[in-house]
Amino acid sequence: MIDDATKNRILDTAQILEVVSDFVTLRRRGANYIGLCPFHNERTPSFNVNPARGIFKCFGCGKSGDAARFLMEHEQMTFPEALRWLAHKYGIPIEERELTAEERQQQSRRESLGIINEQACKWFERQLWETDGGKAVGLAYFRSRGFRDDIIHKFQLGYCPEGQDTMVKDALSKGYQKELLVEAGVAYAYEDGRLRDRFHGRVIFPIHSLSGKVIAFSGRIMKSDAKVAKYVNSPESPVYTKSNELYGIWLAKSTIVKQDKCFLVEGNTDVVSMHQTGIENVVASCGTSLTTGQIRKIHRFTSNITVLYDGDSAGIHASLRGIDMLLEEGMNVKVVLLPNGEDPDSFARAHSADEFRQYIDAQEVDFIRFKTNLLLAEVGDDPFKRAGLIKDIVTSISKIPEQIVRSTYITACSQMLRTDERIIISEVDKLRKEAKEKAKKDAANAEARATATPEQTDDTQQPEEEMVSQESPSGRAIQPVQATPAYPTMDPSLAVKSLTSTADPLQQKELLLMQQLVRHGEETICYDADEDGNEIPVSVAEFILGDMAYDGLQFSDTLLLQMAEELLQHRADPGFSASRYFLRHNDSRISSLATELIGERYELSRIFQGSTSIQEVVPHLLNDYKMAIVERELKETLARLKDPAIAGSPEQSRQVMEEYNELLEARKNLAKQLGERVTGV
Ligand code: ATP
Ligand code: MN
Repeated sequence: MIDDATKNRILDTAQILEVVSDFVTLRRRGANYIGLCPFHNERTPSFNVNPARGIFKCFGCGKSGDAARFLMEHEQMTFPEALRWLAHKYGIPIEERELTAEERQQQSRRESLGIINEQACKWFERQLWETDGGKAVGLAYFRSRGFRDDIIHKFQLGYCPEGQDTMVKDALSKGYQKELLVEAGVAYAYEDGRLRDRFHGRVIFPIHSLSGKVIAFSGRIMKSDAKVAKYVNSPESPVYTKSNELYGIWLAKSTIVKQDKCFLVEGNTDVVSMHQTGIENVVASCGTSLTTGQIRKIHRFTSNITVLYDGDSAGIHASLRGIDMLLEEGMNVKVVLLPNGEDPDSFARAHSADEFRQYIDAQEVDFIRFKTNLLLAEVGDDPFKRAGLIKDIVTSISKIPEQIVRSTYITACSQMLRTDERIIISEVDKLRKEAKEKAKKDAANAEARATATPEQTDDTQQPEEEMVSQESPSGRAIQPVQATPAYPTMDPSLAVKSLTSTADPLQQKELLLMQQLVRHGEETICYDADEDGNEIPVSVAEFILGDMAYDGLQFSDTLLLQMAEELLQHRADPGFSASRYFLRHNDSRISSLATELIGERYELSRIFQGSTSIQEVVPHLLNDYKMAIVERELKETLARLKDPAIAGSPEQSRQVMEEYNELLEARKNLAKQLGERVTGV
């Protein structure tokens, strides 16, 4: 573990220009440097490095951040890996936090297992290339499947001989510990203690971690009549959690980033063959059904995933549910159905890369349309089956986190299903509400369980979550936002994108305010006078957050709320810089949101034609935000006025009416300051 002081020293020392120049050719333009963006394909440079601010940004694809972020994006490093890389470059000694005895033991065990896997991989390769049996059986098998030698090397494919314990004998003679061989999974133990090679008589596909370490093996039997399982895989171990790994990700990741797209196939051999034909952004799910962990791993590199299905895949139906998970994680999912009888492996071998790509381009359909068509063809005109189908499709749509994407699909499906759009909309809303309530309840139960005393853990005794009263105290121009968010908390990945994509005006305004806080939080926007009449500077953070607090307002999104709180805590730290603070945040959701907000993709110049000084922008954005709140409150108050329970009571109606008038007044004042004409009531 790198301690915080060292972390900051590394980041303060790192020069963005020097770091980026190690990977990208840059030339000077004014105060900045420009070059061809390494994150997307382009012919004219839109990739910008700003040495003064210490950040890079691309006007083409929008990627931006500091030196560490650049390494994370470009080299697919984790944050600690990027820090170590920078420390090495700048000769900064790393102060590691002392590991506890337990951590140390854990670590050396993992290291030992890593070494065994690494050595085993080399051993399997040697067997394949250097022994008579390996060449005659293993290599011949791979070649008969059309794998080229360079590809066999690239994937470090290998061979384990027929003998039951060839490997074990060799390993033990070299001093490897029995228990470690068993734990790593290259051997298993008989009850009498004898060891046996797990993979004997199989060709070997090593499974690599994201950073290219060998963590497990998949061994394929070569006979087709075999009575044993076609594949044998390493068992789980401290270095291998099956449900988190993807076959091929290590070799695919840089192409996934470059093409902003990932292909998902079923088999190891599909991955290898597609590489051979030149399509490298492809992974397989190691024979398990897709898990959230695997999806998130892909999502680090792209949001676009295309699933390749065999032409006659019986597995399509089984995999449909897995795809709902992809949607839920905010992935854009497309599907390509291969011709009858073909899988990606056979198709890749029979076609050139160009032909394969053309086929994909022509056949690729978005998942919702694919599923709708597939099911439509099956149910025919049976009205009951049709109802089930609609429910099924609607469920998939309801998983999509982004509202705009959802509504696009709703429109498309209502046409395909010849069903009234409003019905689909209300079904989707219903499902989302149910899911939300369930999530809320689960969270509340989990929390209650965590805090409950032992006698209280009985679920039936949990009180229903109490609703915070919607009634607002009157007497204020702007009502306080409720303690709980008035609308569901944004998915952080949505928050990052939502400046351009959210349909909710309030969310957008909150993000614009946060953008000012991140970019200029510590800058002085104006001066206040203290009791003695001395001028004291007011920072943007104090200005915005103070003003919001005065009106009883707070960010409705928990992530933004947390950022605001931390800003208030740290604003007085010597040398505090909001952008630096958030860009380096340990919570990756916060650092990536900050990166996005600092990038110029959402330049304010679109809103403000003229000046963009904080003195003008900040008050305007604040008023704009309050306007959105007032509009929302107006709508709600109007609805309450119409509520029969309130309309029936003169006392209550009068009170609500008063609130309504206050809001109208507030709207008029805000509009005046915003320079807009008030229309309507
Ligand atoms: P091939 O083309 O050589 O038949 P494949 O890799 O395409 O092999 P599939 O039968 O399509 O294999 O299976 C897909 C994946 O499922 C395999 O790559 C493997 O990871 C996993 N798998 C298949 N059979 C087994 C099994 N018996 N035990 C464990 N995993 C298996
Ligand atoms: Mn196959």
